[in-house]
Amino acid sequence: MFVTIGSYVGIFFLCLWAADFLTGFVHWAEDTYCKSGYPLIGSLICEPNKLHHEDPNLMVRTGNFLSRNCIQWLVCGAVYGFLWLIGFGYFPLFLTLLLASFGNEVHYWNHTTKLGWFPTFIKMTGLVQSQRQHSLHHKPPYMKYYCTLTSFVNPVLELVRFWRALEWLLQQGMGLVPVREASSQAAKRKPKSTNRGKSKRNFDPGKLIAQRQ
Ligand SMILES: [Zn+2]
Ligand SMILES: [Zn+2]
Repeated sequence: MFVTIGSYVGIFFLCLWAADFLTGFVHWAEDTYCKSGYPLIGSLICEPNKLHHEDPNLMVRTGNFLSRNCIQWLVCGAVYGFLWLIGFGYFPLFLTLLLASFGNEVHYWNHTTKLGWFPTFIKMTGLVQSQRQHSLHHKPPYMKYYCTLTSFVNPVLELVRFWRALEWLLQQGMGLVPVREASSQAAKRKPKSTNRGKSKRNFDPGKLIAQRQ
């Protein structure tokens, strides 16, 4: 029985880490190659992503549970539907995509100061990404810690410089040059805040953490 429970726990964590990697992969692709001018995905994905880096707490002031997560649910649902149709509807794949579809909700938990009892409980377990770790993504050089679901996968990927190696491979193999519209936008934000003093639009993770303690 303990072996069975252990294997279920093992499968859960493997799915959780795989889901975290997926959130990081999509986030990295958006930050690195997305352009607001692209047809369809430009306005649907690239522009909101750019705005998040310009004003990280905008997602707290606007939108709701449905608007924050509907695109992820639709994409993950469509991917799983396709896998199921071609005979790969395995439970671990379902669980991975289900967990990944909540990556942006966990991301939201790291920007808001008002958390309900359920997110507070989940965060207390340490299973999801800490606010402190996510704040590292919103600091120069704005090119690290892309995964938004847990705190486990990012340090490993940063240690082996995974994203930079992938960018180098894509540039050498396919001529794909990083655009980094979102990172450039985030970098532009800093001088503004220095010149204007404290602004509501600035993301101050230290302040957020202090407010929540
Ligand atoms: Zn980003
Ligand atoms: Zn963020």
